[in-house]
Amino acid sequence: MIASSLRSGVEQLGEMIAESSTIIPFTGAGISTECGIPDFRSPGGLWTRNRPIPFDEFIASQDARDESWRRRFAMEPTFAAAKPGRGHRALASLYRAGKVPAIITQNIDNLHQASGFAADDVIELHGNTTYARCIGCGKSYELSWVKQRLDADGAAPDCSVCDEPVKTATISFGQAMPEDAMARASELVQRCDLFIAIGSSLVVWPAAGFPLMAKNCGARLVIINREPTDQDDVADLVIRHDIGETLGPFVGN
Ligand SMILES: [Zn+2]
Repeated sequence: MIASSLRSGVEQLGEMIAESSTIIPFTGAGISTECGIPDFRSPGGLWTRNRPIPFDEFIASQDARDESWRRRFAMEPTFAAAKPGRGHRALASLYRAGKVPAIITQNIDNLHQASGFAADDVIELHGNTTYARCIGCGKSYELSWVKQRLDADGAAPDCSVCDEPVKTATISFGQAMPEDAMARASELVQRCDLFIAIGSSLVVWPAAGFPLMAKNCGARLVIINREPTDQDDVADLVIRHDIGETLGPFVGN
């Protein structure tokens, strides 16, 4: 059912939250746009102007690694300045209240952790761009470590332990989805009694499968997104309004 107005949507959402004991939020780019993080996939977004560098190219080519890191550091002022928005803060309130055991996200911006979620309770399907990782041994690196070497040598650095390339801790195109995160996400979706999809167009796998999975396991389904999604028909409540305005009333609850 599509909420007839923002106010009616917020009321119905409030009732469903009150009636639920295990809520799993699933978030996409739409929750972070009010924080200044652009939706890379949107029309006119970064990825339509700047072709993403696929994983195999990153592995194969020093030039691709250098270009990839130059692009990442060009975005650093945007990521560094971003603070959790009303949506993030509302979900963190529900987390603190014990209603939300963990959150699943397609976002790589670390804003759920910044809003108060423990890192272990944020299941990142596409990884995290606020630190780096060796693709060989998995050693974590601060971005500042990469920046220093890039500036000094003019080339993206390799791992100091195993000499394999160091990449942002994100999942690139052509890179395998993280199995642990996928398994945990599926398990959470199957045991919640309310699944709330927020700011995702729900077209990218595996996001597209979660709403039906939740419904099939008996949960109620809410979709909050400015644009219609392919999953709206199966939802118990669809709110096509601004995410900050929709979730703002739940900050501090
Ligand atoms: Zn390594």
